[in-house]
Parts: sequence; C-alpha cells; structure tokens
Amino acid sequence: MKVLKFGGTSVGTAATIRQAAEIIRGRNEDLIVVVSALGGITDEIHRAAALAEKNDGQYHRLLEGIRERHLSLCAELMKEDPDTTGGLKAILQEMDQILTGVTLIGELTLKTLDRLLAMGERMSSLIISRFLGTELKNAADFIVTDSRFGKAAVDFDVTNRRIASAFAGHRGIAVVPGFIAKNPAGEYTTLGRGGSDYTGAILAAALDASALEIWTDVDGFMTADPKVISKAYTIPVLSYGEAMELSNFGARVIYPPTILPVYKKEIPVCIRNTFRPEAAGTLIVRNSGNGRERPIKGISSIPGIALVTLQGIGMVGVTGISMRLFTAIAREKINIIFISQASSENTISFAVEETAAAAAAEAAEKEFEREIARDQINRVLVETGLSIVAIVGENMRQTTGVAGKLFSTLGRNGINVISIAQGASELNISWVIRNSDLRKTLNVVHESCFLSENVELNLFLMGTGLVGSHLLSQIAAQQGKLLRESRLKIRLAGIANVHRMHFDREGMDIGAWKQLLAESSLAASVPDFIHRMTEMNLYNSVFVDCTASPEIAASYLRILESNISVVAANKIAASSEYDNYFTLKRTAKNKGIKFLFETNVGAGLPIINTLNDLVNSGDKVIRIDAVLSGTLNYIFNTLSEENPLSVTVRKAQEAGYTEPDPRVDLSGSDVVRKLLILARESGYRLEKEEITVHPIIPAFCFEGTADDFWNRITELDADFETRRKLLAAKNMRWRFVAVFEEGNPRVELQEVGPGHPFYDLEGSNNLIMYRTERYNEFPMLIKGYGAGAAVTAAGVFADLIKVSSI
Ligand code: ADP
Ligand code: ASP
Ligand code: MG
Repeated sequence: MKVLKFGGTSVGTAATIRQAAEIIRGRNEDLIVVVSALGGITDEIHRAAALAEKNDGQYHRLLEGIRERHLSLCAELMKEDPDTTGGLKAILQEMDQILTGVTLIGELTLKTLDRLLAMGERMSSLIISRFLGTELKNAADFIVTDSRFGKAAVDFDVTNRRIASAFAGHRGIAVVPGFIAKNPAGEYTTLGRGGSDYTGAILAAALDASALEIWTDVDGFMTADPKVISKAYTIPVLSYGEAMELSNFGARVIYPPTILPVYKKEIPVCIRNTFRPEAAGTLIVRNSGNGRERPIKGISSIPGIALVTLQGIGMVGVTGISMRLFTAIAREKINIIFISQASSENTISFAVEETAAAAAAEAAEKEFEREIARDQINRVLVETGLSIVAIVGENMRQTTGVAGKLFSTLGRNGINVISIAQGASELNISWVIRNSDLRKTLNVVHESCFLSENVELNLFLMGTGLVGSHLLSQIAAQQGKLLRESRLKIRLAGIANVHRMHFDREGMDIGAWKQLLAESSLAASVPDFIHRMTEMNLYNSVFVDCTASPEIAASYLRILESNISVVAANKIAASSEYDNYFTLKRTAKNKGIKFLFETNVGAGLPIINTLNDLVNSGDKVIRIDAVLSGTLNYIFNTLSEENPLSVTVRKAQEAGYTEPDPRVDLSGSDVVRKLLILARESGYRLEKEEITVHPIIPAFCFEGTADDFWNRITELDADFETRRKLLAAKNMRWRFVAVFEEGNPRVELQEVGPGHPFYDLEGSNNLIMYRTERYNEFPMLIKGYGAGAAVTAAGVFADLIKVSSI
C-alpha cells in the first residue's frame, strides 16, 4: 500500500483535480490519498477570520469567494450532486456562523482559527472523494494531538492505534484530509502550515506503507527554491538527513516534521510533479548516494528572522550560561532556528522568527537580570531584518574547502555575513545575512556550488556610441559560443545612453537594446543609474563605461565600493590624480573585484595586460617609447600634397579615429593621459603635470570652441606642407612619440628615419616599446591597430571576460 499526498496547487481547480485523478486511477494498488485544501484556501480563511476579528465587514466578500469556489468546482466536476453540495453547504454555513461569532466577540483564538482552517481540508476531501467515487476517512477521527492549536503535537501511541483500526482490511482507495486532527476533547486542531505532508507521513508510518509520494507543483526537491532561482534543478536522491535540513531551513516543498516518522520506518519518500508525472522527481531514502556526488546538495533560506545576542565578559568560563539562556527561551515556547557561540565564550547569538524577537530578548534579560545589573553581561542585543541561508549535503563531511570557497565568494560579492554556524555533523553550514542580500546570496551560492561550470556576469553598460554599440553586437554574436566553450553567460541587466536608460534583472535581449532604450520611459541620469544598479544588488555585477563622461568616471569609487567591478573605456579615471587612481585600484583589490581599463591605451592591444604580467612576475620597466595616438599616426601618414592638415584631420574624424573634439588628440593631451597610465601601471607614481608636452599645433588653436577651431585650421595648412616637404626630402617621417624615462617623461614630435621601428608604422597603428630589465638589449614591441570602435569594443569585451574569471 502507498500513501499519495496531493498539495493545494495540485487540487486547486477542476482541471488539476482531473490530473490528480488520472495519476490515482493509473495505480494498481491500495492507496491512501491525502489532500490539502484547494490551493490558496487556507490563506483565504485566515484572512477572512482576521477581518472578522476586527469587525471588518469585508470578510463577507471573502467568505462568498470561498463558497463560490467550492460550489462551482463541485458543479464542474460532478454536475448534479445534491449530496456533496449539501455537505459543502453545511460546512460553509458553519464557517459563516463561527465568523459571525468572531465578529461579535471581537476575538479570534487559535482554537477557533483551527476549527475554521480545518474546513478547507474538510471540503476539499469531500469533493475529491466524491469525484473519485471512493471512501472518505476523516483524519480528525484518528489523528490525535495535544491542544497546542495552530501547530499541535501528535500523540503517536493513540494515533497509531486508531489508524491501525480505521484502516484494518483497507482495500482500494481512501481519501483523507491532510493537516487536520483533534485533541482528546474532540476539538479540531491543525498540524501547522503545510501540515498535509505530515498527515501523509503519519499514515505511511503507522501502516508500514511501501512509499509516501508527495505530489506538488515542482519536479521534486530542487537545488534551491525555483521561484527564486530559475536555474535550480531537481535533486534525484536525498538522504532523510539532507531533506530534513533543507526543509528545516525553509525549503517549503516538504513540511519538516514529515521526515521523522518515515525515517524511523525507512519508508522511501518521492516528491513528484502532478503536472509533469513523467518527471522522475526526488527520492528520499537512507543513503543518498555513493559519496561521489557534489558535496552540496541544496540551498535553502528563511527570511524575516532576528538575531538575539547575549554578550559580556561575565560569560567567559562560567558554566550553565547556555543552559539558563535556552531554558528561558524554551519556557516562552520560542523556537530557536540557529545558534552560534564564539570559542572565547564572550557572546552567544541565536536566531528566532522576527515576531518572537522581543519576547526572546525579554526572557533573556529577565533570566540574566542580576548579571546585567552588575555589568557582567551587557544588555541583550536584537538585530532584525535578517535571513538565514543554509547549504546542505552529506558529502561536505569528506570535502575540504567548502566553507573557504563559500565565504570568499560571498565576500567578493559584498555580502556581509553576520553570523555563521556549522553543525558538528557537517551536514549543513548556515549563516545569517541581511534580508536585502538574500536574493543575491542565493544566486551567488547556487552558481558557485552547483553551476560552477556556468559563470554569469550581470552587465551594466553606460554609453551606446560607437564603442558601446560594437560591444553589444560582439556580445550578441559571441553569446552562444561563450556559453558552449567558456561556460560564460553575459546578461545585460542595465543600459543607458545620454537620453534614456533601461533595466531588467532577468537580463534583456541584447539584440533588441536599441528598441528597449527607445521605448524606455526612464530618463538617463548617472546617479539614478548607479542607484538602481546597486539597489538591484545582483551577483557578479560589472559596470562598463563606454562614455567619455567625467561625471561617470567620478562615480567609480562608489561603484567599486558596492562590490561591482568596473571596466572602463573612459580614460578619465585612470589618468586623474594619482591618489584617485590608486584608491580605485586598491578598492578593487581589497574587495576582490576588478577595475580594468585595457582599452585606455592602444584600444584592443594587450598593452596594459602585458605590462601587468611583466611587473607582477618581477620585471622592472626602465623605459617606454611609444606611438600611442592612432589618430596622430593616421594624420602623419595621410598628410600629402592633396591632403593638407585641415582635410586630413577632417578625414580622421569622419573615420571615427578622433576624440569628439579633435583638439584633444592634436594637443597631445590624449597621449599624455596614456603615457601617464603606462607609467603608473609600471609602478611609478606620476602626475600629469610632470609630463612635458611639445604640442604640434600653435596655442591659438586651443582658444574657443571646436567650431572656432574648424574655422581656423586651414591657416595651418601651408606651414605644415612646407615642413612636410623638407622632411620627405630627408627621407624621414614624423611620429608623435611618448617617452617615459625616469626624470624626463615627455610627449613630442620626432623625426624618424628608415630602420627605426617607428618608421614603418602604417595607418592608425600604435607601437609600444618596453625596455625592461629582462627585455633590455632588444625591447619588447607591441604593434597593431590603436584606434577604431571595433577593436576598442573587442578590448572591452576581453576585459569583461577577465572579470568573469576571478
Ligand atoms: P503544495 O501545495 O503541493 O504542498 P508547497 O507550495 O507547499 O506545495 O510546496 C511547493 C513549493 O515549494 C514550490 O512551488 C516551490 O516554490 C517551493 N520550494 C521552496 N524550496 C524548494 C526546493 N528546494 N525545491 C522545490 N521546491 C521548493
Ligand atoms: N492547507 C494547509 C496549508 O495551506 C496544509 C497544506 O497544504 O499542507 O498550510
Ligand atoms: Mg506544502
């Protein structure tokens, strides 16, 4: 014989009841079918009762809804059935009368509430048994409890005996309401919310059933609550211990007390999906595997808890403190979810449901009144707004490094762990965090413990100009390959251009970014973007700056401090005052995240990366000679008789090589910024002002606006052409070179002849020469496209991928 329990969602509507019936009728064995109230009904009754207590007439509306739902369901399933309808009406009338009573007295006791709540299961079991055409056995006739209404304790001696006689010689199918019982005085009690699972287990154990099947709306016990973690997947096998721990820490799929009766009798439990009966579900048995599975089976969590802390030097080395504390709490019938004591014995913290926090603190303070008066113990501290998260797995026992990996992952994501406990059985590690960090914690842990082969990045992009839009199309094109080959998934969670911004915590369709931005009603604002990004509190977040905005660059510190990595194509921050640059680098390092700006020098060329590798491996940079302006190189390579300076600069701008205002390039200030960054990354403390600039165009060009400049640039054409001719006659070429040597960092126009590495530098290419202690006689050269949106975007993309490999 088997016990099958169908939860509220499985018996919510006529359609789902038909589905459940198909599962039941498909069995060729004796069955006991335990049913919950119709989905949502227990909550509805509760709400109606609470309104009635406050004398709020609205409860009539709820009552009418409850009535209507049951009667129409009955009509839909069974057409004309005056018998069942009569039975339902009698219960509904009883409900109406009791609610009227509650209104009159203005008081709702737990006893009355249990009587009301029990009607949910009484009605559902009546309908289902009649629909199946089977016997109905009232659980309240054989499950006997004490009188702790709301969550009564079962008297197993009496209950088991009564079950045995009620089901003696049972054949076929019997339907039993879950959740409900009676006390010895014959008053209705309930087994606690979710208690129908427990009813199933009590029956299965008492009757030595061959299995207990819990039919619900998910495929089984999953690695995490699928309503929070969309990537959670079904765990095929769990041990009783693992299932108990997971459910104790909030995995609602099974009511925690359910495990004990079936565990004692070693009755296997299957969790199955009513809506996908073909899915294998989860099997809960004694041994969950062969020891070769992942160390962690699942994560669960309980929100809305409070941490109560007793602290004081008067506790050190004194015996009996914990006993007194926990006895005092037990006296108040407060359930303790979690305990943690440091080995210094200076503090004991324990977690309780938030609603019990004040009572727990009061009980503790009363117990230690004397010690508190003598300052041996400080006052009891209560912290609310917290959640507990637990990871569970038998294999944690054999595996080292689980806690290390767990807490470093949490730390890198900026999740503050308030308290930690690990049971000596090593079956679970649990820790306390703020409610606001719960979602992020579950995601981070789920990813690092279960899907480590799949890393996800949550991308927030500001700037959709040339570089930003290229980046998005490159990501869109590479997405499939990255997932397949690098197990990396990039989710675009936020995007902004100068006009609008758009956010989606689930990740938006990258191919549709233009439309999403165009349709967004959110006006772009840097502080608002950052605020929303930090409020979303997503794990593995990375902020990408594809703008040239000083306001955004000035926000990096705030972003990094929120544990969000920064990838900047924007050069402003890395070339700002040394102290700011250094603070940003140090903050990223301390937080275990990244601040990357490879594209600040030489677009997509691996210039900064190479430098970092050299320096980190103990090399020392002695001198840098570099052509760092793709724009200027393009200009000097293009200048000719037909292409005077003014025409050439215009062409460079049209090709997208220049900064928005080309004078930034012509002044050399862009090269100065790059040299500054290279020197700093080489380990030198350098400020912009220490670099000598020999500009290539006269001072008057820098007065006025960019338009003024365009109007006057032709004045320079003649002089440049004369000098160019002279140079060509000498068979030499102009290169705008950045030189770093200690004591004389400078940018200047150099004339180079054939044989010089810079001589043959085509188009807009860059060339960087590092002379280091190791690469001394023959310096290291890096050469290639140093400008252009596509290569810059590729460099940003490479930085992004680097963030994912922390
Ligand atoms: P029923 O009405 O069938 O008793 P419940 O709502 O009590 O169903 O329990 C099923 C729900 O438990 C799922 O819909 C899911 O949201 C939630 N849940 C929480 N944690 C887990 C988990 N680890 N695995 C599966 N479901 C979970
Ligand atoms: N109907 C009850 C509840 O909603 C019991 C159950 O569904 O298990 O809590
Ligand atoms: Mg349930």
